[in-house]
Amino acid sequence: MAVKLQDAGIDSFTIFEKAHDVGGTWRDNTYPGLTCDIPSRYYSYSFRPNPNWSHLLPPGLEIQAYFQQVADERGIRPHIRFGANVTSARYDDGKWRLTTTEGEETFDVLVTATGVLRVPRYPEIPGRETFGGPAFHSSRWDHSVSLPDKRIGLIGTGSTGVQIVADLGGKVRGLTVFQRTAQWVYPMPNPRYSRLTRGALSRWPRLNALGYWFWGLFVRRVFGRAPIQPGFQRRFVQAACRWNLRLSVRDPELRAKLTPKDQPMCKRQVMAGHFYRSVQQPGVEVITDPIDHIEPRGIVTADGTLHELDLLVYATGFDARAYVRPLEVIGEGGLTLDEAWADGPMAYRSIAVPGFPNLFMLMGPHSPIGNQSLTPVAEDQADYAMWWIEQLRNDVVRTVAPTEAATKEYNERMKAAMPQTIWVTGCNSWYLGKDGLPELFPWTPETHHELLRQPEFADFDVRIA
Ligand SMILES: Cc1cc2nc3c(=O)[nH]c(=O)nc-3n(C[C@H](O)[C@H](O)[C@H](O)COP(=O)(O)OP(=O)(O)OC[C@H]3O[C@@H](n4cnc5c(N)ncnc54)[C@H](O)[C@@H]3O)c2cc1C
Repeated sequence: MAVKLQDAGIDSFTIFEKAHDVGGTWRDNTYPGLTCDIPSRYYSYSFRPNPNWSHLLPPGLEIQAYFQQVADERGIRPHIRFGANVTSARYDDGKWRLTTTEGEETFDVLVTATGVLRVPRYPEIPGRETFGGPAFHSSRWDHSVSLPDKRIGLIGTGSTGVQIVADLGGKVRGLTVFQRTAQWVYPMPNPRYSRLTRGALSRWPRLNALGYWFWGLFVRRVFGRAPIQPGFQRRFVQAACRWNLRLSVRDPELRAKLTPKDQPMCKRQVMAGHFYRSVQQPGVEVITDPIDHIEPRGIVTADGTLHELDLLVYATGFDARAYVRPLEVIGEGGLTLDEAWADGPMAYRSIAVPGFPNLFMLMGPHSPIGNQSLTPVAEDQADYAMWWIEQLRNDVVRTVAPTEAATKEYNERMKAAMPQTIWVTGCNSWYLGKDGLPELFPWTPETHHELLRQPEFADFDVRIA
């Protein structure tokens, strides 16, 4: 967003960041094995290729370094108030009044880029606070705790849990994995880029565009489509997951434990090259008995067994419905975002909400967070916000917000498309909202791009003077 503002010649913007560095997700998550699911070439900004990616799927630390580099190169840091938490934003008399930990400030336009998988979710297990050793959420990894000598209890087998097992399995004294639901694992290989390739991409920068184009096409055509509509992509991904399990886990008892009841992709698809190999290493145990409680020495499961542990890791995900919150956003007439979203978060094309003029959200409700690369998605959403910011800047319009009718119609169209998707085939996932329908984008990546290419004036309540 900042780069696009700069490219449009707008320098009068402020970014509030409650932490002390850029990077968001990739600053906060530093757990062992953290890797992006999307090929590095396509998890890059279209305007800033990176010839130096080390792997097909980039490790978290490398992504963090990339975002830091872009912020430095583009001179964005001077615009950022680090350590400034925005606690409330109130629309008042045509302006947005922000209250931050540093005081109050007023702006013409508010853009929220507060992330989507950001607020850690902890399980409600009796005795959680009584555990005697170190315990932390995967997104708050304490690197002062040594790992090789520990008996580690890992709660959760989603994308994060699987990546941690893939990395730590066989390298620590013990790894006890508490699995509530088995997950399908897509066998995504992660080869290293050779020095020759990296050298060639640095020497001839235009070659990077080829990688962006190729991996973009692959992600959009295979993973962008497989969950949303039946077809060969869905059959291919599902078959790859099933064969991966069958060929990789020979022990029938362990295979039974690791076999999900639902279809591949019904939940967020886990990608990992080494999970099954690591889970079969000595010292790794998968526990499927439900957790009864936590006590100082470890975890007690429903069968009464005490699993003694030295370290407890919660790979239990995030509050995916927090969106902009806990920041309090108050729109026209005192309407709060919490009130507007009482039945679940919804927006016009993920970006704007009726009653909240001159507010644009990046990664708002129903953004395609389940099966697309979020870097190009963020670029499309920022371009759309920029389009309106240009109109506001040139005094073509004074305030803009989507109409109730257009927002309702858009959300109803989305609901009608959901039955086609794999996300409604019976699993219980964090994708599902209050109404039992996925809070995801049910169409292709190309449709997302098209919907955000240019605003339709008729869908907006536009005030001119
Ligand atoms: C473990 C993990 C793995 C992921 N893997 C992938 C993947 O493989 N592919 C993919 O496409 N996506 C992945 N994602 C999603 C990832 O979050 C997005 O790709 C992307 O990083 C989101 O960027 P963002 O800037 O929108 O949000 P974030 O990176 O979450 O950044 C939001 C920022 O806003 C700040 N902030 C929030 N509220 C306030 C406030 N009130 N005041 C001040 N500052 C505030 C936060 O401190 C944070 O720095 C993953 C997410 C996680 C957690």
